[in-house]
Amino acid sequence: MQQGQMMDRPLMISDIITYAAEIRGDQEIVSVRVEGDRHRYTYADLAGRAAQLAHALRKLGIGDGDRVATLAWNGYRHLELYYGISGIGAVCHTINPRLFAEQIVYVVGHAEDKVLFLDATFVPLVQKLREHLPASLRYVVLGDDTHGLDGALAYEDLLAGQPAAIDWPSFDEKTASGICYTSGTTGHPKGVLYTHRSTLLHSYGLMAIATEVGLTPTDSILPVVPLFHVNAWGLPYAMPLTGTRIVMPGPKLDGESLFTLMDEEKVTSAWGVPTVWLGLLAEMRRQGRKPDGFDVVIIGGSAAPEPMIREFEVDFGVRVVHGWGMTEMSPVGTLTTMGPTLNALPDKERRRFKTGQGRRMFGCELKIVDEAGDRLPHDGEAFGELLVRGHGVMNGYFANEEASAVAFDAEGWLRTGDVAKIDAYGFLYIVDRTKDVIKSGGEWISSLDLEGAALGHPAIAECAVIAAPHPKWGERPLLIARLAEGQTTSPGEVRAFLADKVAKWWLPDDVVFVDDLPHTATGKLSKLTLRERFKDHVLPTAAD
Ligand code: AMP
Repeated sequence: MQQGQMMDRPLMISDIITYAAEIRGDQEIVSVRVEGDRHRYTYADLAGRAAQLAHALRKLGIGDGDRVATLAWNGYRHLELYYGISGIGAVCHTINPRLFAEQIVYVVGHAEDKVLFLDATFVPLVQKLREHLPASLRYVVLGDDTHGLDGALAYEDLLAGQPAAIDWPSFDEKTASGICYTSGTTGHPKGVLYTHRSTLLHSYGLMAIATEVGLTPTDSILPVVPLFHVNAWGLPYAMPLTGTRIVMPGPKLDGESLFTLMDEEKVTSAWGVPTVWLGLLAEMRRQGRKPDGFDVVIIGGSAAPEPMIREFEVDFGVRVVHGWGMTEMSPVGTLTTMGPTLNALPDKERRRFKTGQGRRMFGCELKIVDEAGDRLPHDGEAFGELLVRGHGVMNGYFANEEASAVAFDAEGWLRTGDVAKIDAYGFLYIVDRTKDVIKSGGEWISSLDLEGAALGHPAIAECAVIAAPHPKWGERPLLIARLAEGQTTSPGEVRAFLADKVAKWWLPDDVVFVDDLPHTATGKLSKLTLRERFKDHVLPTAAD
């Protein structure tokens, strides 16, 4: 083959921040701080402080491949860490504070973190865990003082006096830039090492659909999706690359706080998981309006229920983009990008596409296979295990051969653990997690579809469907619901409501009402906990 004659410059994360400072230097970054106030500065300031941090890290002895951990909310200092750490060839390990205590201890040990940067909020947590953490681990509290954490440094002291300019080093683009651990519902969390290359290509992938998701210099983006998990869906990199204005919510993620922040800061595009939007929608309903300027909401992490999509779009005129991704990718895989043909459809039909998880991002290929591993057609009917391949998909877990050995098929595609169908337009529909699908008499029932239908009931605020054992059918669906405030209903009434919305044999055999539903560290319903809690539940149909 004839080689092309173009310069072989590596794709470096530091190039993003250098570019942003140069081209969009005056663009604003607003952050709600744990200190309680709202901090403002610009991309030029971000680049300067990331450079200061890089110098400071080197002084602490941090170099190539060293893992540096963060325990922090969404704010400007966390963004500085993203750039300062990876910029010098070290690896930014974002820790999800919602992991169980022993999981946090495990991931710090497994990643062999050298320094831990933490928000003041997490000082008590770290104090509690400290005796189990490596004695050599150094601590930096993100603020002016150390909030009583023995031996820690204050971030602002660390940066003070360091030069606000740096000649960022250039190195192999396949160098690790960040590590994120899965939330590990079973067994230990597993680490995924992103590269500079995968991160840049993922950011370019988001650029391909920039106007649809509000990634433009005239937009103000609110990343509610945490910087401490799955790279906040790639936003820390894609936002500076496009020069969008950033509004970081800090620790307050309730509906009222988000509404006020969005309204005052004129947020146009907000990104987060469905649970967060339940809170915001309740506040929007209470005030009878949307936050001023709110144009598009990006929903992912778990399935966006149809009533949520309808309420955003029909009641409040907020466009919905629904997406799917995972820690094992860079991380977004699909988004409901539409285009002229689909946009011309009547509203209701158009919205039906948005109940699915959307079309693949540039650089992410999808396939669905049957139990023998053979490909299934993309006809919107056939469903099977979803596998992915692409430059933003991992090729193995970090230092975990056992998990890596079973993560891929013979062709090298990553098994996602999701069951899905794909239609002729290329839209992905996640049917279930392979572990959550209900196997009733040899047929599969999608717990996600049943939950989506049940959420249409006005009395149901949140719900989960799990498999309960059944002597005849093997498994049958059990619906567990949390009622909306002040609402009442009965199992019979819920079943009657569902009767014309799902196949008759899908109707849950029992409906149980609870005060609270358990969530995982990433805000998803914890079906593992529910299965454990309801393991002795006897379905009325099973008792017959
Ligand atoms: P995580 O690695 O924590 O991001 O979790 C990834 C998993 O979340 C995926 O494999 C899916 O099971 C689930 N997930 C993410 N987004 C969606 C979505 N929009 N609809 C349904 N499931 C989703």
